[in-house]
Amino acid sequence: MPFEYPNLTVVHHPLIQHKLTWMRSEDTGTDSFRQLLREVSRLLAYEATRALPTEPMTIRTPLTTMESPVISGKKLCLVSILRAGNGMLDGFLEVIPLARVGHIGLYRDPDTLQPVEYYFKVPGDLAERQCLVVDPMLATGHSAAAGIARLKAAGCAQITLVCLLAAPEGVRHMNEQHPDVPVFAVALDSQLNEHGYIVPGLGDAGDRLYGTR
Ligand code: URA
Repeated sequence: MPFEYPNLTVVHHPLIQHKLTWMRSEDTGTDSFRQLLREVSRLLAYEATRALPTEPMTIRTPLTTMESPVISGKKLCLVSILRAGNGMLDGFLEVIPLARVGHIGLYRDPDTLQPVEYYFKVPGDLAERQCLVVDPMLATGHSAAAGIARLKAAGCAQITLVCLLAAPEGVRHMNEQHPDVPVFAVALDSQLNEHGYIVPGLGDAGDRLYGTR
């Protein structure tokens, strides 16, 4: 990764890049967009969990006894930043079916432009779990950073942010606020426009997922 984004890993896998191209296209409808996000999320879950610690477990195969690795500690917690984060949950749960799930709802106050929390529901034992926060669009980074601050206040010490598209502004904001949190994305786009949309981007991820506008 470029030196100025030490917290960012861009996942260049051709299957993921191919699917992202179709998600970006304005010709892709709601049902295909939702299906593609689910497929990309499945593949991203695989990349974002690459460094999970394992420990040996003794099992019996039909032939013999052996020590074989299993993931150590408590299972993961997936945290969706509402509402577009929900589009990534199912793909992640297909790969990590035993994960717990939390939800964080934030909106932007029109006067202060700061994120305001309207919903927060997470498992009680967060201190013992690694959290994977999912939010397709890392634009200014304010919502993701606020949600992650809230998770830390709830006791979570190990957090990874997984998104689809990132803007330089969002990656920088995350690095300033939470340098301990690795960020995974499928692409680092060039900029935000005056309305806070990622360019070239894919539009409003929530609208494209749910057919609202
Ligand atoms: N949220 C979106 O859904 N799209 C953007 O481009 C930026 C934020």
